[in-house]
Amino acid sequence: MRKRALPLIAVSVWISGSVYCLPAPLRPPVATTASFQAGFESRDIRVLISQGQELLKLTIMGGYRVIDAKSQKTLSISRRLVGVNLRTQNGALMIAGVRFPDVVEIHADQPADLFINNRPFRGFLSVHRQVDGTLAVVNHIDVEDYLYGVLYHEVGSWWPMESLKAQAIAARTYALYEKQFTKSRIFDVYNNQSSQMYGGADSERSRSSEAVDATRGQVLTFQGRMFAAYYHATCGGETRDSSDLWKVKLPPLSGGVKCSYCWFSPHYSWSTKMDISKMEELLNAHGISVGAIQSMTVVSRSNTGRALLAEIKGSVGDNTISAKDLRLWVGPTVVRSENFEIHLRWGKIIFDGKGWGHGVGMCQWGALGQSILGKKHDEILELYYPGSQLTRIYEA
Ligand SMILES: [Zn+2]
Repeated sequence: MRKRALPLIAVSVWISGSVYCLPAPLRPPVATTASFQAGFESRDIRVLISQGQELLKLTIMGGYRVIDAKSQKTLSISRRLVGVNLRTQNGALMIAGVRFPDVVEIHADQPADLFINNRPFRGFLSVHRQVDGTLAVVNHIDVEDYLYGVLYHEVGSWWPMESLKAQAIAARTYALYEKQFTKSRIFDVYNNQSSQMYGGADSERSRSSEAVDATRGQVLTFQGRMFAAYYHATCGGETRDSSDLWKVKLPPLSGGVKCSYCWFSPHYSWSTKMDISKMEELLNAHGISVGAIQSMTVVSRSNTGRALLAEIKGSVGDNTISAKDLRLWVGPTVVRSENFEIHLRWGKIIFDGKGWGHGVGMCQWGALGQSILGKKHDEILELYYPGSQLTRIYEA
């Protein structure tokens, strides 16, 4: 019954909009603990927004300053640059044809006045001439402003507010947690799926920014410390233990959470097929030669049903490969999760699977399903990160 009822509820929620205005959380976040503060130094985050390029276009709408990153000396103060070259040339960093030191900071007087390749950014930029002669550009930004540019990419900005709040808290926690381990490099997070998607000020939407503001300073903690609050698109019925994939063994990420809220996700179940000959080529390309494939079977699964190992029997030999590698080789958006079965039929290899993503932590479509049914963001987070605590680490 529930499976039929949910879309009707969803439609009425989205049409009326009034359900978005929900009361304060049931369990207010606790105050910062002393041990937690030890791991939190500042809320500035450094996002790698470009690397490997020799030429970028820089625009600054109003007044700006260029600073030597090492000495913090101001090198240039001026106004307005439109579509000038930011490049490396003859072993030097050049801005609009003028030579600068290898690492500079560019500060605009007004927020979001800085554009790289026509994309606006808040905060300031540092530009690094790398030893290979390419550029790395890092956006230094308050984590709250950063989240404005993250949510649009991770969830629909039209989703009910409580699911957006849950996403904002998970993303804030993930970013500030990651930041603790990046002191030796020039950035804290990538602007893509290696960390979280981030598109700068162009990606801001009023509803997702409202969710960021409503949860300002709130993170998830376990025993007083932040943890990597992983999330994924659709779990397909049950979340996964992080220790299946990474060296992270922590109760809020130990998986096994039964999720009955993501069944309406377009990624809940999927099927994809490829020619057996293509799979043989793919295996060969990764140094696995079994000849003509005769069978391919999942021989080991995690306790939540995700494939761990697949055995391939061929005309000239057998081999066993990890499901994680197999998914990456075929393509993580083709084989959407490791929760799959393999069938060989009519010259094709067929993957029948459930869910999209690694399956650890919060199921985004499940969060959406819960919010449609009226659950608050703290209830959503409590389900997917059992044992965690909502903690406010700063107010303003
Ligand atoms: Zn789910």
